[in-house]
Amino acid sequence: MNLPDTGRTVEELLAEVAALKQHDLPVRGGQVTAYVYDTGRAEVHEAAARAYAEMLEVNCLDPTAFPSVVEMEKQVVGAVADLLGGGHGVFTSGGTESIMLAVKAARDSLPSAGGRPNLVVPVTAHPAFHKAAHYLGLEVRPVAVDPVTYRADPRAVAAAIDGGTVLVVASAPSYPQGVIDPVGEIAAVASAAGVPCHVDACVGGWLLPWLREAGADVPPFDLSVPGVTSLSCDLHKFGYAPKGASVVLFADPAMRRRAYFASAAWPGYTIINATVQSSRSAGPLGGAWATLQALGRDGYVELGKATLEASARLREGIAAIPGLRVLGAPETSLVSFTGPDPFGLADEARRRGWFLQPQLSYAGIPANLHVTVTGVTLTGVEALLKVIAESAEAARRRGPAEVPDGVVELVKGMDLDALDDATFAELAASVGVDLRPGAGQPEMAAVNTILDALPADRREALLIRFLSVLYS
Ligand SMILES: *Cc1c(COP(=O)(O)O)cnc(C)c1O
Repeated sequence: MNLPDTGRTVEELLAEVAALKQHDLPVRGGQVTAYVYDTGRAEVHEAAARAYAEMLEVNCLDPTAFPSVVEMEKQVVGAVADLLGGGHGVFTSGGTESIMLAVKAARDSLPSAGGRPNLVVPVTAHPAFHKAAHYLGLEVRPVAVDPVTYRADPRAVAAAIDGGTVLVVASAPSYPQGVIDPVGEIAAVASAAGVPCHVDACVGGWLLPWLREAGADVPPFDLSVPGVTSLSCDLHKFGYAPKGASVVLFADPAMRRRAYFASAAWPGYTIINATVQSSRSAGPLGGAWATLQALGRDGYVELGKATLEASARLREGIAAIPGLRVLGAPETSLVSFTGPDPFGLADEARRRGWFLQPQLSYAGIPANLHVTVTGVTLTGVEALLKVIAESAEAARRRGPAEVPDGVVELVKGMDLDALDDATFAELAASVGVDLRPGAGQPEMAAVNTILDALPADRREALLIRFLSVLYS
């Protein structure tokens, strides 16, 4: 951007924003089955947007200056605690920040007895735990999951705990296959070892209770389960709030205090932070507060019924398409499925206007596609199934993505740090993945096929380079 010499009008700016967004995936309508959560009720999203704007300039930095923040946060956190077994919470910017705070509180609660402090984390748990461990100087002890159900195995968890373990993790559900870990058993083994247990209900916390009310068989998973010491619940997922809204709950108020941070070690204003961020807009808090109020209990129950019905129909419809298979038996409205060429299928679906989220093979779980079924999915579930069937057939006719011979071996052995971004982009273009400005959307099946053939550390190095090229 060239900073304009003189200011421009709001009409002009909004027109430009609209132009900038023209190639974005749509955030409403249900054809994007990841990242966005649509109730299908415009008035709910409007209430959120207006309350968000109303709170936009309010700064959560100093709760004594803006008591509205304290009151709103108490109400939002209170609603989450009421639904999920009580506790003492913090409103955060998202699942990652909720998890970061839960890990920090656990680390500061249990100075490890010896060795490097560690987290015991099933392989299906969200990378936010790896990120928290990375930022907070902890080691991750990955634990295998059951190869058929994809649920974490409490015996394997018990075996991985040692004197340095500061936190054990269970997911309700884990995102990749939408299955709920045996929370009661995992919390029991953690508790027997004297270690806190975090339930990652980022995606499920504000979903499972409504599915249960709509008739789903949902086992106990929240803070009411003995041994569970903290829980994360994202309101910007199945709470349908605008992004920037999550809650972390602690059973013990002393543990919440260990999530907080205060500093008097400078001559400036006093720092008391409940979150990682310090100056922080109250917009997301206002948006979440308004969404909860605009939907109410009935609204969430209705959405729960619709998601439950749509997920059942989707699982059954996918199973009936030749060559495709749903992974595991998800209790939730997250559905993953595999087939002969999932990445090719995703590209074909995208050509037909639908986004299905590719997931790479990992820890014995095959490459697959992930669908997050939301309130709005039901109205389009037959259309979605039709697109999946057509896309599977089209991918079969096209054949797998062409990856030139030797590319995977080349990438495995390559010293990425020795290349600058421009050289990397040229190299990628030479193997058919053109990331250069103006090249448009690369054929993602080729990108995913290359990534899928690499070990995790090489995938990570490539992804970081990709991001750097994207922003250069
Ligand atoms: C989405 C998600 C997270 C991370 O949340 P962000 O809001 O994207 O930071 C963590 N755990 C699970 C299970 C999730 O689905």
